[in-house]
Formats: sequence, C-alpha cells, structure tokens
Amino acid sequence: MRFKALLYRKVLQRIFGKLLLLCFCFVLPGCASGKLGDASTAASSVPAEQMIEKSAELKEEQTRLPVSPGTAFEVRGRILTWRDGKQAACSITFDDGTMDQYSLGAPLLDAYGLRGTFFIITGPRDEGVWKDNEKQRSLFSWEQAVLLAEGGHEIGSHSVGHPDLRQLDREGQKETVIAELQDSAEAIRRRISPELLSSEGGLTFCWPYWRTNGNLVKEAEQFYLAARAGEGPFMSSIVRDPYEIHSEMVLSTDSFPGWVRKLQISSQLRGWTVFSFHGFYSAGGNTKASGWQPVSTGKMEALLLHLSENSFWTAPFGEVFRYAVERQAAVLDIEEVSPDGIVIKLEDGLDDSMYSQPLSVEIFPPGDMNIEIIKSARDEEIPFQLLENGWLRFDVRPDGSPIILKSSP
Ligand SMILES: [Zn+2]
Repeated sequence: MRFKALLYRKVLQRIFGKLLLLCFCFVLPGCASGKLGDASTAASSVPAEQMIEKSAELKEEQTRLPVSPGTAFEVRGRILTWRDGKQAACSITFDDGTMDQYSLGAPLLDAYGLRGTFFIITGPRDEGVWKDNEKQRSLFSWEQAVLLAEGGHEIGSHSVGHPDLRQLDREGQKETVIAELQDSAEAIRRRISPELLSSEGGLTFCWPYWRTNGNLVKEAEQFYLAARAGEGPFMSSIVRDPYEIHSEMVLSTDSFPGWVRKLQISSQLRGWTVFSFHGFYSAGGNTKASGWQPVSTGKMEALLLHLSENSFWTAPFGEVFRYAVERQAAVLDIEEVSPDGIVIKLEDGLDDSMYSQPLSVEIFPPGDMNIEIIKSARDEEIPFQLLENGWLRFDVRPDGSPIILKSSP
C-alpha cells in the first residue's frame, strides 16, 4: 500500500488547481467558476501572524465567490476547514496502551462525549505487563482494546515491542524494523474487527520515543495511513507530512494554562493540536499510574472541559487526518440550480474505501428559495442546519455522488 505518492500527487494537483482559480478570480473581479474547495492554503514556513492573516484573507475571498454565475439563481458554496465549522481541531492520543489509560483516561473522555486514539504496543499485550527498561507497566488487555473500539475510540499501533526504530535503522536492521511495523498492524487487525477500526482499513501509527527518519517513513507507508511524531511547529489545517504529524508531548510538570496557551495559538491558526498523553493518576491517589509521566485526572478533565466549551473539533487522530486530506483534495461543484432546488457534488478523487469521512459544507441558496429537504443519491435524508446568516450547513461524503437540495414549492 504505497499511499503517499499517489495521494499527494492528487492532493497537490487539487490544491494548485484551486490556488490558480482563487488567484484568477482575485485579479479579475467578476470572473467565477462552478468549482471551489477549501482555501486555507497557508504555508507552515511563514511566521504565525502572517499565516493567520493569509488564511483569514483567503477564507473571506472564498465566501464572496459566486459559483453559479450568469444564471438567475446565484448559489454560493464552501467546504468548511473543520467539522461543523469548528475553529480548530484537537486529537487526544495515548501512547503504549497502559492500564491507567483504560481505567482513568477513557472514562473521562466518555463522560465528555469525546473520542480519542490509543496507540498500543501489541507484543506484550497478552502478558499484560510491559518491561519498559527498569519499569514494569501494566497494560490493558485485547478485550479491553475491543471495548474501547466499540466505544468509538481509535486503536492505532505503537509497534510490537517499542524499540528505538531510528537506532535499528542506523544499525541496518531493516527486517526487524519491518517486522515491528507489520506484525503490530496484523495483530490489531486479528484482534479487532474491521468495522470497529475507525480508520476504515487504514491503521494509524505512532513512533516509539517520537523518533523517525526518512527510511522509516518509507517503510511505514506500506502498512499505515498516517503516523504521529513528536514536537514540531504548530500544525496548520494543511497536512504536509502524513507520517510525521507533530504532537504536543504531555509531561507530569505541564500546567493546564500552558495547554490552553498552545490551544489558543492553534485556534488562531485554524490548526490541529495532537496531544500525546501517557499515564494518569486519580485525584485522590487511589489509582496508581502505570504509564510514563502521569498527569492527574483533574488536569485532564479541565482540558476536556476547555475543548468542549470552545470551538474545537475533538476527534480521533485518524479521523481528523482523513478529514484534512479529503478537504485538501475536494472540489465542490454546483451541478444544477432551478426553481426545484439545487444539485451539488463533492468529490475528492481519493479511494473511497479509505477516505470516506464526511466533510462539512455550507450552501447559500438564492434569496427566495426555501430548502425543505436534502437527500443523497441513495435517497437518504441528510440532516442540515439553517444558520442565522442564511447558509445551510450539512455533512457530505466526498464520493462525487449528487446531493439534492429540494426547495419547497
Ligand atoms: Zn511509547
């Protein structure tokens, strides 16, 4: 499965296509096209302030772009940067698969109706104990991993035995590297049924000790859809390196205000924050941490409350990844506008068996048109919201099938 080359060629073609379209329309007022996609194309190498300005400017421009010019019915449409129009995205991820994550971390997520990603070491899972150098860490079982997946959480891989893969690569131990990547993916697929693997056949990975390099990325591409790495520049809404997605390393000494500051910057960038958690201990100290650098459940709860009360789309790593990739590639077409309603199409050109996350879109119908129902090509009703500003917001799978917005007579 060599996803990256093919996928990124497509994504780049789409992005460049759209950039050209946007630039063209900017230079020639009055020009228009029936196609548009997400316009947040900020580059990660420019300073944060500039980046914020640039993405805001493009967003505004996109909103003004008429998509059905020359007809009596002007319709506008846009693909939202994140699900439900949220300002930024956040993924709560857990490394190693220790017992405290199951007994303390997951119930907290469940209490807030949020779903996370558990990157598990597969090798010692049957024994229930992982020898992490001097430390013995208790692990949750495969049965408990299945329960997490049934609760909507993502199970990803963190290798078989947590070796330093970069060191193995330096020593030329290519076969061991491949076995660590491949056997772990196979173990997860053997134990957890495909419909419970939220990544729709494409598992995600997280690098042991956050260490990776170009050789390792090439190997990981064969077995995984994406991989999480360690700290790096803030992530914008654009995914550039699917196998080196930066994360915020969580340490016991972290403060809650420190996390909030990071989230505020990410929010200004309309970006994606990925937290990399390990251990937990309960507020009363009744439950001992088994994971590395444990944090209190109280601090975790403050974070989850903050995410819920602010405009963050909190979703598993693989889900946010696929949303971003699809949105980068997708084109929204207004196919037809008539007194009966509007027909749109959303297509990302990607493999629908792997990339079928619905994208949130908004359509602004002509002034006197009253949309009463939205249906898929399979005649399924699609729920929508009518926003105060007159836009209709709903979720669509970017598979190119027609979506019908029927107006009331
Ligand atoms: Zn680890």
